[in-house]
Amino acid sequence: MCSGPAEPTQRLFFALWPDTGVRDALAGFAHAHIHKQARRVPDANLHITLAFPGSVSASVRECLEAAAAGIQGSPFELTIDRVGYWPRPRILWAGSSHPPAEVWSLVKALRTALLACGLQPEPRPWQAHVTLARKARHALPVTEIDPICWSISEFCLVESVTNPSGPVYRIIRRWPLEGQTLSMG
Ligand code: ATP
Ligand code: MG
Repeated sequence: MCSGPAEPTQRLFFALWPDTGVRDALAGFAHAHIHKQARRVPDANLHITLAFPGSVSASVRECLEAAAAGIQGSPFELTIDRVGYWPRPRILWAGSSHPPAEVWSLVKALRTALLACGLQPEPRPWQAHVTLARKARHALPVTEIDPICWSISEFCLVESVTNPSGPVYRIIRRWPLEGQTLSMG
């Protein structure tokens, strides 16, 4: 049996994209503390991945966009207050010790979207983190970071293109989180 030409695909992920202030704060920490022991992520690439569809066809992308458009969520704040090291992927990261319920709901909704579009979400539990550097040889001597208060009012679908000089990310679509938080009493 003959197979036709391979269908073109795009490598996609859903993410929280920092505003300039949050990006500068994350980059400032990375520049001050990460030197030759690791390869810093370029400032422009700093983000939090919420869900990772990976390489998908145009029809799966359409399905993901339609599912994402149906997600209801409220704006929330995420405090980046700690840094750590995962030795196996050799990653230095900045994260949140208490991710709020809203971000868990968003991750859950996106995992449901992946499943609805025939994709298998990452089986490992999600962790709220920004990768600061790769190929890290050891942990940093610090585990805390001056808290960075990140106000989140949208999530994004991002395309990842791997160039010889490294990955380049391009935001394809953004969806606002505009649900109202009900006040009691
Ligand atoms: P490169 O793979 O080119 O070295 P990268 O890992 O930054 O660079 P991608 O692999 O396209 O680029 O990943 C895009 C985002 O999705 C990154 O935040 C990455 O950590 C995350 N990611 C990649 N693979 C997975 C996966 N299997 N599960 C969850 N998140 C993933
Ligand atoms: Mg990768």
